Amino acid sequence: MTYRRLDIRLPSPAPGVQLTILAHQFGNRSNARSVYLHAGLHADEHPGLLVLQHLLEKLLQLDAAGAIDGLVTVVPYANPIGMSQRLFGAVVGRFDFENGENFNRNFPRLDQQVAAYLAEAPDRAMSPHECRSLFTDLLARATATSPSQALKLELAKLAIEHDIVLDLHCDTDCIAHVYASELQIDRATLLAGIMGAPVAMLEPHQAGGGAFDQVHSSAWGTVQAAGLLSARDSGFSATVELRGQADVSDELAAADAANLLRFLESERVLTAETSPTLRVADQLAKVFPLDGASHVPCPCAGVIVYRKAPGDQVSVGEVIAEVVPLDGCGFNQRVPIISTVDGLMIVRQLKKLVRPGERAALLVGKRPVRDRHAGSLLLDF
Ligand SMILES: [Zn+2]
Repeated sequence: MTYRRLDIRLPSPAPGVQLTILAHQFGNRSNARSVYLHAGLHADEHPGLLVLQHLLEKLLQLDAAGAIDGLVTVVPYANPIGMSQRLFGAVVGRFDFENGENFNRNFPRLDQQVAAYLAEAPDRAMSPHECRSLFTDLLARATATSPSQALKLELAKLAIEHDIVLDLHCDTDCIAHVYASELQIDRATLLAGIMGAPVAMLEPHQAGGGAFDQVHSSAWGTVQAAGLLSARDSGFSATVELRGQADVSDELAAADAANLLRFLESERVLTAETSPTLRVADQLAKVFPLDGASHVPCPCAGVIVYRKAPGDQVSVGEVIAEVVPLDGCGFNQRVPIISTVDGLMIVRQLKKLVRPGERAALLVGKRPVRDRHAGSLLLDF
């Protein structure tokens, strides 16, 4: 057995309170790849928390069978600060109570430091091992003061030691989908296909926003874009959206965990004889540019009624939903919400009382959306 547990202490936010990042590790760093997974960075998103419990149970069995070739690190809950933020009962885990900052933004980025390093030794080939060491050394110099900054830095430092990083999220009410760098289209579509996610949205490796997966993708992408590393030898990170907030069940979680193991097998982290095999019949995910994603706003306050569901095709000019204002002159009147995209509905609201400007839906198409700032992440609502 190789299992071990790490407890990473964060600065105390108040006398008598100790915050800790818990990590479980299996296997050893070897020639095989290493994988990092966590869930619940947005602490009000709970499907991934259960998925990782199922995954940990399986990893312990694989470890006992000697079937883990590489290193697997699992952080079962990435955001103890957000999980403790309750307001009148509800967990408010997307934004930091301290400053309103999205917990999945403003992670440290390494692309500029990596580019500066490469400029000093141009055209020098780098092995994956050298890349990991460089990124680890660069992040080790970063400092943090507040508990939230320390949380982000410690997660980043732990993750950057690995070749593969998977950040498990969910959205309000949606189909499964994957966000990744456009430099990693093959692995992104493979991961999406294995996870049963029909959509992969790809962004440039130098995109802004500072999401957690960009710590990894911006660093590896800089080396890859310089032509010093192939896509296959490069590290890979992705944000996996595991359907909607209400989609928490043992059936879904067990299936998701089994599929994550299949992805680990495809990366040769697990021994092939004792781990699940890849299926050739996995559906191929449709690939969209992140610049083709559109948040459609609600036009007024009221109750929203959907005409389309996540996964449905939508066309420009089509009614995707209606808002019933409640306080208008007539009864049961409708204000239509029109698609501006030829593509798919990915996300809709779970709670149906809406305000003007609130996101009614996330739609995605092949063409860049007008008025969108290319290279930035989706609306930070
Ligand atoms: Zn999230």
